[in-house]
Amino acid sequence: MSSPVPARDYNAMSDEAFRLEVRNFFEQHYPEHLRYILRRARWSEMKDWWRTLYEHGWIAPNWPREAGGMGLDAGKMVNFLDEIERHGVARAPDQGITQVGPILMQYGTEAQKTYFLPRTLSGEIIWCQGYSEPNAGSDLASLQTVAVAAGGHYVVNGQKIWTTLAHDATHIYLLARTDRQARKKQEGISFFLVDLKTPGIAIRPIRNIAGHEEFCEVFFNDVRIPRDALVGTENQGWTIAKALLGFERLNIGSPRRPAYALRRLEMVARAKGLFADSGFIDRFTAVKLDLEDLASLYGRFVEQVKRGEPLGQDVSMLKIWTMESWQRLTDLLVETGAEDGIIEGARQIAGVETDFLNPFYYARPATIYGGSSEIQRNILARHVLNLPG
Ligand SMILES: Cc1cc2nc3c(=O)[nH]c(=O)nc-3n(C[C@H](O)[C@H](O)[C@H](O)COP(=O)(O)OP(=O)(O)OC[C@H]3O[C@@H](n4cnc5c(N)ncnc54)[C@H](O)[C@@H]3O)c2cc1C
Repeated sequence: MSSPVPARDYNAMSDEAFRLEVRNFFEQHYPEHLRYILRRARWSEMKDWWRTLYEHGWIAPNWPREAGGMGLDAGKMVNFLDEIERHGVARAPDQGITQVGPILMQYGTEAQKTYFLPRTLSGEIIWCQGYSEPNAGSDLASLQTVAVAAGGHYVVNGQKIWTTLAHDATHIYLLARTDRQARKKQEGISFFLVDLKTPGIAIRPIRNIAGHEEFCEVFFNDVRIPRDALVGTENQGWTIAKALLGFERLNIGSPRRPAYALRRLEMVARAKGLFADSGFIDRFTAVKLDLEDLASLYGRFVEQVKRGEPLGQDVSMLKIWTMESWQRLTDLLVETGAEDGIIEGARQIAGVETDFLNPFYYARPATIYGGSSEIQRNILARHVLNLPG
């Protein structure tokens, strides 16, 4: 793979000029058959696009320019993500870019940065996230996977679950318990970088309701990993894992997904003549207005980030509102499809091709991952409304 071109100072461009440049690039280079796919794309599908972005210097919009990224500020980052969504660009297995890179830049040793950062950029190393376990999801600090120091190694035993695209990854970033006696359970956890080819690791894909194998169970049976697989200091893993929450909390609450579902709903409803039905108009208008509210709430948080102000706990509203609106929209999409709404795959409705069930399926877990709606409501109750509990 040839090395990337050095990034220009995109932050000096106007938002309009930057958006236009990104849009033109996507229109010229992104493969048409991968637009708006409704499932997580596999690495085999995305690797050519990865290479195209890498060679153009655009694979890591959030990384500083000196590390091979685009160095985008928060405002330009929002523009970039908007254009991705607008063009229907699928998400590549990007956790190395969004998570591991920034973590290593903050906490990694020089040797870890030198080895992992360039390989993560080029796609030679693909990461998956090993946090959740069968009995540790919302309450992640209860995790039971252990890493025991033994001579020059740690020995890891335990199980991870819901590990997105582990079967496409070469490496996993892992939270494991290194101190079972810690006063608070958060204080006994460490952060490791593990090569998935290490003996003792087994990966078993899980098939979801849509029939796709997008996540996996990952088993660790006496897995010996070197001491320098540890990032930061022992028992600092919780702080490291939480360090990234800022921008992610804004991004996960973006109204792009429900906005796309609304456009599909409107196209199907027009094709079926449903705007002659006042009952349908009532329901459509209600979800559309919900989305207008969401867009203005999102805009308020974007402005806050652009001003360089940290996001408060009230940003939890955004995730609840986005994901629950998305679910309501996909419920209505299925109903609108009537007999076609319950059939798998794309259907032709009066010249409009749409898939009803996949968007419905994919909106279901959205109120679970990235902090469930119930957990977000707890946060709002405690930290924003100051309710007892
Ligand atoms: C599509 C998808 C991809 C994922 N990818 C990854 C990945 O790559 N890596 C990874 O590590 N994990 C991943 N996860 C796991 C995800 O982080 C967990 O599913 C999530 O943390 C919830 O944990 P859980 O599934 O164990 O549910 P639980 O925590 O057991 O929750 C079950 C239900 O109880 C509710 N609940 C729990 N605690 C409370 C409380 N205190 N108050 C009120 N209600 C509560 C929850 O809201 C939920 O409705 C993924 C999940 C999904 C759905």
